[in-house]
Amino acid sequence: VLPILVHLFLYRQAAPTALPTFVLVGPSGGGKTALLTLAERKTVAQTHTSTAPLAIEALLPSDVVPASSHYRAPGDPAYERARRFLLLDTPGHGKLRHFATTQLINPTNVRGIIFVVDAASVAEEAGLNEAAEYLHDVLLALQKRYTGAPTSKGPKAIPVLIAANKLDLFTALPPHLVRIQLERAVSTVRKSRAKGLKDSGVALGGEDDGLDQEREWLGEGGEGHFEFQHMEEVGTGVVVKGGNVIGGDGTDVKSWFEWIGAQL
Ligand code: GDP
Repeated sequence: VLPILVHLFLYRQAAPTALPTFVLVGPSGGGKTALLTLAERKTVAQTHTSTAPLAIEALLPSDVVPASSHYRAPGDPAYERARRFLLLDTPGHGKLRHFATTQLINPTNVRGIIFVVDAASVAEEAGLNEAAEYLHDVLLALQKRYTGAPTSKGPKAIPVLIAANKLDLFTALPPHLVRIQLERAVSTVRKSRAKGLKDSGVALGGEDDGLDQEREWLGEGGEGHFEFQHMEEVGTGVVVKGGNVIGGDGTDVKSWFEWIGAQL
């Protein structure tokens, strides 16, 4: 009986096909569900309760080539396989964010994080601050994953795409401004988090806080202005690309799929 159990156990371990996975994060209303529905070609859109993460299998559009398959011909089974990936939606509501954080810290085959943000909402302080706090925490989780790795080589990098969505809205900021606004607001979040830690450290009379505070400090670029570029020192490339999932003269998310293809 034992060998059979062992066999079953091993089989169960090996069974789940770990397709390359991209985790969708970002504030509620950014367009994650819309993107998921769009990417889920040929299948009926699933209703989901928005309290649980939802994974769907997606295919790269035929005009985007996965980076691993530049020398393969369409129709080659390996080429077709390489175009498959999973998109994992996570609820944007603050209290439910631990789903996303678990995915970041404990990845099976996560190739990238897609932070979907409403490019019109970041034109206003409230929307910008909400997005920046969320983004700060996502980036800090990735940084800790990198700096906390047991080997000096560090774990495989998980890049971040900031998908500046809803560019069809005339109030939407263009991607380069979304970038500047988010960098500025993340700088502010970083400063206020550090101050909060310092204050609580003083209140507790702790002495070892210096180290802990350093671990909580996002980016390696010192105390000045935070730039996404600083994340490269902790193994995380961050790019901002604009698009719109619905609306306007039609859908335009080509640059996002190209980014996904570059990670496949
Ligand atoms: P989620 O909370 O991130 O899952 O966001 P949803 O996918 O539910 O989208 C929030 C709202 O934004 C919905 O009403 C969508 O129809 C709308 N929306 C999503 N993408 C776009 C877009 O590219 N342009 C416009 N104008 N509206 C969009």
